[in-house]
Amino acid sequence: MAAAPLFIVFLGPPGAGKGTQAKRLSQRLGLAHIATGDLFRMHLQNHTKLGQLAQEYMKKGELVPDSVTIAMVEERLKEPDTAAGAIFDGFPRTLAQAEALDALLAEHGARVNAAILIQVPEAVLVERLSGRRVCRAQGHVFHVKYNPPKVPGRCDYDGSELYQREDDKPETVRRRIQVYWEQTAPVIEYYRSQGILTEVDGNQDIDQVTEALLTVIAALQQGGVDAS
Ligand code: ADP
Ligand code: ADP
Repeated sequence: MAAAPLFIVFLGPPGAGKGTQAKRLSQRLGLAHIATGDLFRMHLQNHTKLGQLAQEYMKKGELVPDSVTIAMVEERLKEPDTAAGAIFDGFPRTLAQAEALDALLAEHGARVNAAILIQVPEAVLVERLSGRRVCRAQGHVFHVKYNPPKVPGRCDYDGSELYQREDDKPETVRRRIQVYWEQTAPVIEYYRSQGILTEVDGNQDIDQVTEALLTVIAALQQGGVDAS
């Protein structure tokens, strides 16, 4: 019998390292990587209506409306690569999204197995975000100081141009962190009250954070994720 699918939510403020870690771990564990920010940026690049709508909110550091975001995730979950499970990165960001995710997974006979909160002090976030550079082709993430590309301005993986996200400018970063505390912090309590929240120290080297996350996930797999 195939193992039960594994659905993991990565929580943490903008700049905590969710995307960096989700990219590494999804590959290593054979899980889909569902990053709503990446999906919105892909829509924007493809000039879709959804992309244009999302941009209005993203450039101000506000959240895209729940109905739009949830519908996009519902579509993403229909892709075959989610059969073994997924890591959600940047979703859910509101209580309504968390409840909708439970309902969507229940339709597939699955559930959120774990939520992992990547903790980073607020002072570190701004420095991380202002040095973040992202690749045009596939959204690979670098940092000018902490995770520099081999050739400045070029992606190590596909050679495409690296750019700074419009919303990584200081004014927008401040608003995004505020939005995180106002709208996303309740999601932490939602998972904590279900007893499925684990916290990991994100203020260490990228490799050390990966190890800490792998330890949490290995314990989860050994505990038998289908023992609901
Ligand atoms: P998030 O998806 O949570 O917003 P990212 O994974 O995009 O965060 O990381 C934000 C920035 O910080 C990126 O430039 C990334 O290279 C860098 N970064 C990620 N993890 C670490 C770490 N553990 N130490 C230092 N810099 C990091
Ligand atoms: P970060 O990696 O810095 O946390 P993301 O790439 O996840 O940022 O998100 C960028 C922007 O996309 C957010 O500021 C918001 O406008 C929009 N967005 C991403 N995910 C969601 C979501 N789950 N709900 C609403 N808006 C979202």
